[in-house]
Amino acid sequence: MRKQIAAANWKMNLTYQQAERLLDEILQEKIALGPDQQVLFAVPFPYLVLAKSEVDEVHGYAIAAQNAYSKVNGAYTGEVSVEMLQSIGIKYCILGHSERREYFNESNEQLARKVELCLEYGIQPLFCCGEALAIREAGTENAYVQRQIEESLFQLSDEQVRQVIIAYEPIWAIGTGKTASAQQAQEMHAHIRSVLAGKWGKETADAVPILYGGSVKAGNAAELFASPDVDGGLVGGAALVAQDFVQIIKALK
Ligand code: 13P
Repeated sequence: MRKQIAAANWKMNLTYQQAERLLDEILQEKIALGPDQQVLFAVPFPYLVLAKSEVDEVHGYAIAAQNAYSKVNGAYTGEVSVEMLQSIGIKYCILGHSERREYFNESNEQLARKVELCLEYGIQPLFCCGEALAIREAGTENAYVQRQIEESLFQLSDEQVRQVIIAYEPIWAIGTGKTASAQQAQEMHAHIRSVLAGKWGKETADAVPILYGGSVKAGNAAELFASPDVDGGLVGGAALVAQDFVQIIKALK
């Protein structure tokens, strides 16, 4: 079975002390994970080393970065490279979150390069895609998401794409309290999987985890995750509350 993943995206939240406490509160629950279950914490850069040291010995738990730059190294003040992440043992990195696309103008082409770099350095990208409200209202969300995937992932080999985790995050559901229904999520996830199958074949498409993100809460996680093509969630607000994220982890298939 492909991995079922509960990923916390802390975004630009929490002080160092708050981050430490949140992680402690979640870890002290000692939730036993199955062999195909994974918990990720995408924490701000300054907390990567601390967070990694806290989860290193815990089975099934790992730390992710929230972004990395599209160049190997050099005069790019303020940026963080994939090589730096690799050098501190980070194995996962969110790429192309809609907030990066919107506020930092990240394009599908730039993300293609970031995905390649991560894979080159042994880091699994959590590649985010998803449409804005106007696109859903126009009924063109399938074509829109397909294009994001084509332009950022279609250059990958079969072996490479099997290292990618996809997160479908409809922008209209992020931080709005408005969740896609389980049926809407399943329909888009099935569409994404068919796009992958069209390019790499069914067996490869079936191996790629597709997470849902957008107002996942303790109360709706189980219903969302129950759909056959929904392999867990990428969680913002609810991942900042220990008991809520604990419930979300427990809702994994
Ligand atoms: P919320 O769970 O706060 O809607 O955020 C979703 C998200 O953007 C996760 O990356």
